[in-house]
Amino acid sequence: MISRKLRESVRTAYDFCCGYCGTHENEIGSELELDHFWPSAANGRDNADNLVYCCSACNRNKSDYWAHDERQRLLHPQQDEWASHLQEAEDGRLTALTERGAIHLQRLRLNRPQLVTARLLRLQRQEDAQEIAALRAEIERINEHRAELETQLQEISKQLT
Ligand SMILES: [Zn+2]
Repeated sequence: MISRKLRESVRTAYDFCCGYCGTHENEIGSELELDHFWPSAANGRDNADNLVYCCSACNRNKSDYWAHDERQRLLHPQQDEWASHLQEAEDGRLTALTERGAIHLQRLRLNRPQLVTARLLRLQRQEDAQEIAALRAEIERINEHRAELETQLQEISKQLT
């Protein structure tokens, strides 16, 4: 039995996002589920290290998958370095860099159309934010220049009167 306190601590440790696909609980509209990385069916324990906060689609796809051979094992969100096994392409799709990455990607179906769209939207938001920051800096420069011109204009006006 998983206590409310343990559940909350796992939820917080995962920053309210699915450990497998990264979807935030706010995007889903409810709290997510707890997955036993090492499945209960294979004697996995209810401890924090073995619990992954995850969405129902990832939980369903992963199901009771477990491999005793470490090379066949899925990537643990907090114990394995994701970036050395998977990479995100410009089209929003993930590609595997290793055998484990390939197993992980395939088992969890991490190129679901909705996830690919979400990755592209996230990328677009980052680009928009950079563009907005650049435009704000440009407005700041223009305002400074305008202030200098106004000062110069006042000085010229004083000289003329
Ligand atoms: Zn997920």
